[in-house]
Amino acid sequence: MSSDESLSASHPTFPPDPAFTAQANGTAQMYADADADHEGFWAAQARERISWATDFDQTLDWSDAPFAKWYVGGELNAAYNCVDRHVEAGNGDRVAIHFEGEPGDTRTITYADLQREVSKAANALGALGVGKGDTVAIYLPMIPEAVVAMLACARIGAPHSVVFGGFSAEALNTRINDASCKIVITADGGYRRGAPSALKPAVDAALDHAETTVEKVVVVKRTGQDTPWNEGRDLWWSDLLDAASETHEAQPHDSEHPLFILYTSGTTGKPKGIFHTTGGYLTQCAYTNSVVHDVHPESDVYWCTADIGWVTGHSYIVYGPLANGATQVMYEGTPDTPHQGRWWEIIEKYKVTILYTAPTAVRTFMKWGHDIPAKFDMSSLRLLGSVGEPINPEAWLWYRKYIGGDRCPIVDTWWQTETGAIMISPLPGVTTLEPGSAQKPMPGISAEILDDEGHPFTEPEKVGYLVLTKPWPSMLRGIWGDPQRYKDTYWSRFGEKYYFAGDGAKYDADGNIWLLGRVDDVMNVSGHRLSTAEIESALVSHPKVAEAAVVGASDETTGQAVVAFVILRQEHIEEADEFGEGVDLVKELRNHVAKEIGPIAKPRTIMIVSELPKTRSGKIMRRLLKDVAEGREVGDVTTLADSTVMNAIKQGLGD
Ligand code: ATP
Ligand code: MG
Repeated sequence: MSSDESLSASHPTFPPDPAFTAQANGTAQMYADADADHEGFWAAQARERISWATDFDQTLDWSDAPFAKWYVGGELNAAYNCVDRHVEAGNGDRVAIHFEGEPGDTRTITYADLQREVSKAANALGALGVGKGDTVAIYLPMIPEAVVAMLACARIGAPHSVVFGGFSAEALNTRINDASCKIVITADGGYRRGAPSALKPAVDAALDHAETTVEKVVVVKRTGQDTPWNEGRDLWWSDLLDAASETHEAQPHDSEHPLFILYTSGTTGKPKGIFHTTGGYLTQCAYTNSVVHDVHPESDVYWCTADIGWVTGHSYIVYGPLANGATQVMYEGTPDTPHQGRWWEIIEKYKVTILYTAPTAVRTFMKWGHDIPAKFDMSSLRLLGSVGEPINPEAWLWYRKYIGGDRCPIVDTWWQTETGAIMISPLPGVTTLEPGSAQKPMPGISAEILDDEGHPFTEPEKVGYLVLTKPWPSMLRGIWGDPQRYKDTYWSRFGEKYYFAGDGAKYDADGNIWLLGRVDDVMNVSGHRLSTAEIESALVSHPKVAEAAVVGASDETTGQAVVAFVILRQEHIEEADEFGEGVDLVKELRNHVAKEIGPIAKPRTIMIVSELPKTRSGKIMRRLLKDVAEGREVGDVTTLADSTVMNAIKQGLGD
């Protein structure tokens, strides 16, 4: 573990504060326990954290690898675990969700309220003929009904497939068909950037396509806007729930009963329908939310800013925190509506103690300037988290200083839709924090870095491939309807012993793991392996840069050449314009990279841009930038958040 002597790096490390350690849920002992008895450790997590209707008799069945079965013979109900048992334990009055709508409307939902709503929804689904094993598409804005709908499905054993509300009719159509959904739960609309934005017409368009398995469309009234209606097929959520009983007996389901299907973000290509089952998934969500986010349900106010349409929303808005009985904030809208301090205002208002967000948000706030959060009282915060992309050391330090008041530990959590829950992360109160690194596999998780030949190595600073070497409870059970693609994608690159994550990684001298971006994004410049993440971090460490994306473009002399796309911090944008397209600045930035990493990493081309192409979950889509850098037609943009961004960038290049 890194200590104060290792400050040779250009930035500091942060040992745990003893006061934090004294109250932390995670302990150093957990590493030792898990190392000594992997299955015993996971059996204990499952029994301590989850209520089983029937205890399991085998922790792991790996005989049909790579198809895992966890907690074999066990039976449980995920919704009961997330709701009813907290009411039964006398915590029905505890707030489960502080909902903040974008227009400023609020709702306070206790665990007892949630139990009533979930029970009514489960009864309503039953009345529509939805039963165990039927799949349900959920296409909703960030409103409490999304949580209720997911838990109602879990309760009756109907796997849900949540589709992000920002996706188009076409994306919705392919996801509905892929999972053969029986009903769709949607809303008239949601609030986005200060105005109602319709959702229901996209459902109509998605179902318009000839054959569909969808029998009914259930519509939540959120905005009250005019909504096209299909008599006989469409039903109001409120009518169904008003007619339904408030009590519903939750039946236990097999530990391996499918809980949900969720499509990956599509950062690297066509999304994959990942499916998860019940017992192992719920166990690892509850465990990680407890020891990584350090949630203390009696006292914390937790806020995960992800959308429910991403795995982060599934695991760390719905299943993890609710299984733990936590109180959380749920916010519907964008961070700059009606003003750029909206998040900080919410933190002040609800006295949020734990904030979990993505590097893309942190870099946006850096771009807007630190005087905005400075206007709010955020002294309630005690822990910050990051997920989704590597967080550049510079962004990490900014996050700690300007959001975390120089006191909050930051957990940089690496995981994937496929892994279901956090896999690599520091434990707050235990780990000395290294800005920019996700650091260590969690207790119970085993990871390695392999070279091209598939041999594990530990030497520092060498770039390799991240793999997971032991099954884990919340691992995906497959790609929906395509077991062969599951094997090919994850268990063949280095043989069936290793789960291939698709991410590049390296160790530092202290043995910390650094995630370096997608394997496809690692560049080869004159025979040197360079990572996009490292060059981006070097660019972001320049005081004028807010965000950067780097790609390797084919180059006749060097094999690949480094091409960088850079967004400046607000206060430097005019300056760059004044100096005629920022010519001096580009030179300055190229030299800065050479100084930080070495001349080999110096970008051949730097483009100053005002936006970067991102997925709807906020991740940079480097493959599109690579198309631009190599002068090709830009590839599939269906998962892009804003399709005009690529045109703007191409025009800029033409200058
Ligand atoms: P697709 O698989 O369709 O290309 P995606 O990989 O973006 O989409 P997700 O499952 O949402 O879809 O994202 C997981 C990926 O996000 C990881 O493989 C990794 O590349 C990146 N990631 C997540 N958290 C971190 C982190 N803390 N540090 C570095 N990278 C991270
Ligand atoms: Mg992926």
